[in-house]
Amino acid sequence: MNVLVINSGSSSLKYQLYDMKIESVLAKGRVERIGMETSILSHEAEGKPETREVSEILDHTTAIKKVLDMLTHREFGVLRTIEEVDAVGHRIVHGGESFRESVLVTEDVKLEIRRLFDLAPLHNPAHMMGITAVERNLPEVPQAVVFDTAFHQTMPPVSFMYAIPMVFYKKHKVRRYGFHGTSVDYVSRCASDFLGRPLSELKLVVCHIGNGASCTAVLHGKSHDTSMGMTPLEGLMMGTRSGDLDPAIVTFAINKEDLTLNEVNSMLNKHSGLLAVSGVSGDVREVVEAMNNGSENAKLAFEMYANRIRKYIGAYAASMNGIDALVFTAGVGENSALLRSEVCKGLTFLGLALDDKRNEERSDQARSISTADSRVDVLVVPTNEELLIARDTYRLVRETPHT
Ligand code: ADP
Repeated sequence: MNVLVINSGSSSLKYQLYDMKIESVLAKGRVERIGMETSILSHEAEGKPETREVSEILDHTTAIKKVLDMLTHREFGVLRTIEEVDAVGHRIVHGGESFRESVLVTEDVKLEIRRLFDLAPLHNPAHMMGITAVERNLPEVPQAVVFDTAFHQTMPPVSFMYAIPMVFYKKHKVRRYGFHGTSVDYVSRCASDFLGRPLSELKLVVCHIGNGASCTAVLHGKSHDTSMGMTPLEGLMMGTRSGDLDPAIVTFAINKEDLTLNEVNSMLNKHSGLLAVSGVSGDVREVVEAMNNGSENAKLAFEMYANRIRKYIGAYAASMNGIDALVFTAGVGENSALLRSEVCKGLTFLGLALDDKRNEERSDQARSISTADSRVDVLVVPTNEELLIARDTYRLVRETPHT
């Protein structure tokens, strides 16, 4: 069975086509600048030349059509006809409290995703456009939706409630939802396989450190607490997001600098974090380079970034009453040995000892970077959200009798 995985944004769309018999990626690519005259489709497939096509793609329906044309292209394609796409799986950022797991798309599911637009106004409408575009191009093909928030729906109220008047939760569903759930779920399972111990016995802290960054306490295979909140702004310091701050700063900034609500929102999401403190960049690589060239601000930014991660690990070790393994994943977590070592050097009180040599080694496989006698295993596990989306889609389609 071939599963097409789609991550649809407002002006871009990423795709991967999986052959689920062997769980291998047959082709992948992205469409950028949807809605413009010069949209770009980049595509690569095993054993074929990479290609890049510029054309006018005014909406998501046309974007999906172009992707399907490319997948069946004589030179660059991997399928003979579009009938060989057996199912489509979509990444959806926000599933609110309605979705605790992945589901097949039905009219009710679409209605519910629309109801959640308020909670993720930038993301969910764009995902809906992807679903509709697939329906128009492949009306007979089953679609599944996989939510970033679903894995975190196991959090107890003590973790997900905010200490503000209850009316906000009851009326507006203001609570912690958490994000990166698909990734955390995937790497937790990989960590359990790697350690040869069942998830039901493990206390893990998963640090998903990419452009967006979060820490999650995974207790016996379930999300117990996570650092992102009602939106992905809370928690760790990120490339351009502030993470935690005293909420009184918002009203103070509005008063002192005469900012509008939109401006404050934009300041905290796009002009804060590593970028604001270093004054250089929101990209860890560039911050490290500036730090190595003597920038004090870059050094401060990097140390704050690592310290925030360390504090969350400590907090989650306390809330689970222990930790068996610490797992690093995503762009920064998988690639920056310096960040991992900076985070871990303050965690020796947990009996955690990093093996400096193993930390520096590179691999695209799950691996341990702690010493043999470390009381806490430290792992680097490459994440693969697309594979998990493909697996869930495959499972749901096979489980449903009429397909
Ligand atoms: P996203 O959150 O967009 O999915 P990724 O998980 O792909 O992001 O992470 C992207 C980030 O990874 C980039 O911002 C980049 O700073 C970071 N990154 C990639 N390689 C390295 C590296 N060698 N050292 C530090 N950071 C890296």
